[in-house]
Amino acid sequence: MNKDQKGALSKMVDTGRIIYNTPLAPLTSIKIGGSADALIYAHSEHEIAQVVGYAKNEQIPLYILGGGSNIVFSDEGYRGIVLKLTAGKELVERDTRTCRITFSSGYISHLASVRAVQNGCGGFEGMYGLPGTIGGALYMNSKWPAGHFTTADRLVSILYMAEDGITTTLTKEELMFSYGFSMLQNRSGIVLSATFEFELEDPKNIQHKCDLVMNYRQTTQPIGVHTAGCVFKNISLEEMEHAHLPTRSAGYFIDKCGLKGERKNGLVISDIHANFFINESGATAKDFIYLKEKVKDRVYKKFNVLLREEVLVV
Ligand SMILES: Cc1cc2nc3c(=O)[nH]c(=O)nc-3n(C[C@H](O)[C@H](O)[C@H](O)COP(=O)(O)OP(=O)(O)OC[C@H]3O[C@@H](n4cnc5c(N)ncnc54)[C@H](O)[C@@H]3O)c2cc1C
Repeated sequence: MNKDQKGALSKMVDTGRIIYNTPLAPLTSIKIGGSADALIYAHSEHEIAQVVGYAKNEQIPLYILGGGSNIVFSDEGYRGIVLKLTAGKELVERDTRTCRITFSSGYISHLASVRAVQNGCGGFEGMYGLPGTIGGALYMNSKWPAGHFTTADRLVSILYMAEDGITTTLTKEELMFSYGFSMLQNRSGIVLSATFEFELEDPKNIQHKCDLVMNYRQTTQPIGVHTAGCVFKNISLEEMEHAHLPTRSAGYFIDKCGLKGERKNGLVISDIHANFFINESGATAKDFIYLKEKVKDRVYKKFNVLLREEVLVV
């Protein structure tokens, strides 16, 4: 980005919410990544539209960042604008049997789940303890396999800004959700907010289900470490049956290859969950790519299945 472009952007965003040449690693849960030319903490729809329109006109690459819990940025960083969505607004609409809650896309997923409990809204328990934001969870269609939950389950519609800055409402059906997928992955616009509908339930029952989810997380996943969650998707049912395998779990295959504890510099495969890579100290995107390719190769040779990445390398 040149000086004029930086000057123009600075006029669109309040001082303090735009930073130039700033490292991306601290904005990700795995703490990897070089610097972005510009990082903008976006609040309002108007401001987002202005930045999106300007980036398009000037042909500046734009990357949307939620909680950064599913991303590994390259060591060279990002040549363009990283737009971090931060607003945490909600709107609750109730009737006697159901409740609709609209969350802005920067709303923290775990907090959205907490708000659902407080409003007696059942069906968001799988979000309990999930890192990241509502926008990222919809993009990834984040899931809770132990409880057969996906983010899309309770979705009604989203407010979506296309790359030309025009805002429309898209229904759940239009987003064509499936395992680890939504149509958002084939578009380059922005989820501004999302409306979910829930059945009313006793908050104590909902909290109990949330506690089970959290307990499961704490006993099956490494906690308090720098990671981006599961590196690979689980394989499909068809792949499992075709290769006569006992499970769909990517972690199982990695474990059976004896790769727990495998290391590349500061990056290590977790002893607790083999599908989690942990940045113990100073790991790079190159280390991440090296280790994931090694895992794919070993799993393919042993089980004849090709693992597909869940973590996004940008
Ligand atoms: C400890 C740990 C545990 C995890 N457990 C789970 C789990 O149980 N289940 C699971 O599915 N995942 C899990 N994850 C992965 C991750 O937390 C989820 O995928 C999460 O929902 C990603 O949200 P995010 O806001 O951090 O997305 P980011 O990592 O910020 O972004 C992910 C993608 O979404 C896009 N995006 C983000 N916001 C928007 C928006 N508003 N509009 C358009 N695009 C957008 C980004 O451009 C990017 O392509 C885990 C991760 C960690 C670190």
